[in-house]
Amino acid sequence: MLKAKSKIGLVFFPAFDWAIDPSHPEREERLLYTQDQIFEEGLMDIDGIQEFKPDLVTDQDIQRAHFCVPDEPTVTTSSHYVSAGGAKTMARELMEGRIEKGFALVRPPGHHAMRVVHGGRGFCNINIEAIMVEYLRSQWGVKRIAIVDTDCHHGDGTQDIYWHDPDVLFISLHQDGRTLYPGSGFMEELGGPNAAGYTVNIPLPPHTSEEGYLYTVENAVMPILDDFKPDLIINSAGQDNHYTDPITNMNFTAQGYAKLTEILNPHIAVLEGGYSIEAALPYVNAGIILAMAGLDYSHVLEPDYNPAVLKESKETLQYIHKLCDRVMDQWSRRGPELSQKVFGKKEFHERSRSIMYDTDGIYEGQKEILRSCSDCAGSFRIESKSDRDWRIIGVHIPLNACPACKAQGEEWYEKAAGADKAYLQDRSRDLYLKKSL
Ligand SMILES: [Zn+2]
Ligand SMILES: [Zn+2]
Ligand SMILES: [Zn+2]
Repeated sequence: MLKAKSKIGLVFFPAFDWAIDPSHPEREERLLYTQDQIFEEGLMDIDGIQEFKPDLVTDQDIQRAHFCVPDEPTVTTSSHYVSAGGAKTMARELMEGRIEKGFALVRPPGHHAMRVVHGGRGFCNINIEAIMVEYLRSQWGVKRIAIVDTDCHHGDGTQDIYWHDPDVLFISLHQDGRTLYPGSGFMEELGGPNAAGYTVNIPLPPHTSEEGYLYTVENAVMPILDDFKPDLIINSAGQDNHYTDPITNMNFTAQGYAKLTEILNPHIAVLEGGYSIEAALPYVNAGIILAMAGLDYSHVLEPDYNPAVLKESKETLQYIHKLCDRVMDQWSRRGPELSQKVFGKKEFHERSRSIMYDTDGIYEGQKEILRSCSDCAGSFRIESKSDRDWRIIGVHIPLNACPACKAQGEEWYEKAAGADKAYLQDRSRDLYLKKSL
C-alpha cells in the first residue's frame, strides 16, 4: 500500500446549494467530478491521506477580515460559512499537529473579496484565505504568513486585505491584467505606505506554460520566500491556468501544477478558480495531492497532454526572465525607502477609489486614511458608499498596534459621523464593534 511522506488532510465541500446560475462556470460540478475522480483513483486509500469534515466559521471569524455591509448573513449564504470553515478546519488540524499539510477543496471561492464587502465580486463574497490567516494569527499566534496566489486571476481581494500589513506577504502570479479580469495586479501595486514591497505582483503573459511558470516560481517566488522567512505558506490554489480552461488564456498543465506544489511546499492549499471541469480539474487535483504527499505524480497526464504544442515562444520566455529580474529588484528595495519614493513622507496617507462588484452589479466608492507608522502596520479608516445607498465608516486597528495607532483608531470610531453605521475592527484586542449613527 502506498504511504504518504507527509500526513495530508483534505476537506471537500462542493456546495450543492450554491451557484450563481445553473450554466455559470462557477458551479458545483467543478468539485463533484473532482471528488469522484479522487476517490475512484484510490487517492483516499493512500496511508496518511485523511478526509476531514468542514467546520463552520463564526461571524467573528469573518469580522477579523471584513467589514460586511450591513452584516455577515446579508452578504453571504450558508455555503460561504462552510467553504471558509473548510479552510479553518485545515488550519486547526495543522496547528494541533494531526496533519502536516492540508488542502481545502471547497467552494464558493474567495480571493476577489476585499476588506469591505457590499456583495459578490469575481464569484467571491468573503475571503477564505484571509479568514483562515486571521484565525491562525489570533487563535494560534502565528506571526509571519506568506500567501502565494497561483490562480490565473489576480487575487485583488487578498491584496486589498493585506495591503497595509508587512507581516503577511502576498505574492500573486496571474495572467497579465491587461488581458484578463479583474484588470489589476501590476508590479506597481506593491503594498501601502507602511508595507511597501510586501505585496508582490507577477503579471505573466498569456500562453505561459510549464517552463515560464516554473521559472517564475524558482527565480522570483522562492527567493522572496527565503528572504521573508514565513512561519506558514498558504497557497491560493486556483487551477484556471490550465490550457483547457474556458475563461483564461494560459498553457499550464497538471504536471506543472504538481511540480509547482512540490517546489512551493505550502502548509495549506485552498482551492480557488478552475473551470475546465473534465479536462483539467481531476488531473490537476490528483497532481497537487500526490505532490503534497511527496509521492510520484509523473503518471498524472491529461489524455491530450503534449508539452511541445503547449510550449511558450522564445519571446515569451525572455519577457518572463526580465519580469522576474524586475520583481527581484523591487523586492530588494522593499521597506521605508521604497515607501518614501512611492508615497512620500506624510503623517497621514489618503486614497480614493471605486470598486466594482461585477457579480452583483454594485458600485462602491471608498475614501481611506491611514496613519503612517514605523512601529506597527498603522490604523486606518475607510469611508465607503455603495450605489445601494449604504454609507459606512470602517476603522481598522492592526494586530500589533502601537499605543499611538490604537488611540487614533479608537478616536476615529468614537467620532465617526456622516454615515449609516460605523464598524470597529480592533485586531489588537480581537474586538469587533458596530454602531448605528
Ligand atoms: Zn493569482
Ligand atoms: Zn481564477
Ligand atoms: Zn503604529
